[in-house]
Amino acid sequence: MTAAPETLRAPLVVEFPFTRSLGPVQSAFLTGLRERTVLGVRTEAGRVLVPPVEYDPETAAELRELVEVDPTGTVTTWAWNPEPRPGQPLPTPFAWVLVRLDGADTALLHALDAPGPEAVRTGMRVRVRWAAERQGAITDIACFEPYDSEPHKSEPYDSDQQTGRPPRPHDGRFAAPVTGIVAPARLDYTYSPGRAQTAYLHALAQRRTVGERCPSCAKVYVPPRGACPTCGVATTEQVEVGPRGTVTTFCVVNIKAKNLDIEVPYVYAHIALDGAALALHGRIAGIPHDQVRMGLRVEPVWSEDGRYPDHYRPSGEPDADYDTYKELL
Ligand SMILES: [Zn+2]
Repeated sequence: MTAAPETLRAPLVVEFPFTRSLGPVQSAFLTGLRERTVLGVRTEAGRVLVPPVEYDPETAAELRELVEVDPTGTVTTWAWNPEPRPGQPLPTPFAWVLVRLDGADTALLHALDAPGPEAVRTGMRVRVRWAAERQGAITDIACFEPYDSEPHKSEPYDSDQQTGRPPRPHDGRFAAPVTGIVAPARLDYTYSPGRAQTAYLHALAQRRTVGERCPSCAKVYVPPRGACPTCGVATTEQVEVGPRGTVTTFCVVNIKAKNLDIEVPYVYAHIALDGAALALHGRIAGIPHDQVRMGLRVEPVWSEDGRYPDHYRPSGEPDADYDTYKELL
């Protein structure tokens, strides 16, 4: 008996910048934070929502009546975060808190800087700690911090009891308003591709493309997932396919992706490798983008380190007949 090859594991980071325009309410809210002013919005029923929204969550009516609330408030609930992750508001352990600012009827999610969970309780008074440099973002509130003012009056804690000054009308106008934000999205995790794809990746490193055949329907899956999704049985028989294949369908990419060093326009295609029962994805190069077509025969061009096909290029063979790949579309 031979030992099973070790399953691969690798760190994987998926990240992209998410760009959004703000609209009048969010623009005023974030610009206000830059100016150390917290704005909410008043609903038709007279409730004050902080953070503000553009439409009434109960009636769907458009909301535009901005009000200023105090930078002090009351913790309505909390959870201790013992191990902050990169990018979170504080590098040291802190509490995630919902804070109802004085004058608001709803609570805002943020971080509370506290020495430990024993120092946090529902009903405690807190205030905004402003970031030293502010740019019109929720991070302009660096965090909340405990605030020893007049303690909350009711015991037990009454979430409906108002504290502090009432909200004041605000026209939402500031010089140089923030009209859009770029929010970075990032997933940072360890990926294990499993038995089937580990074998697939090891074979690729030898410039071979190896799929797995379903023992029931005989389809060859590339890349293999370890089971046939149609029959629900494990696939174990390894089958080498390709290296050549047929473009079954494609699209022309005209939007340049950040951090991707490929000039647009370029073609991304579904490629059915010879012997495979479904198409995989790949970039097509070595041919003008407007000459790529269904049925084009292609071959892989390996990456510089020889571990995967960087792209596919025309193989020079005649185009495949539609009937040979119509089931693979
Ligand atoms: Zn099957």
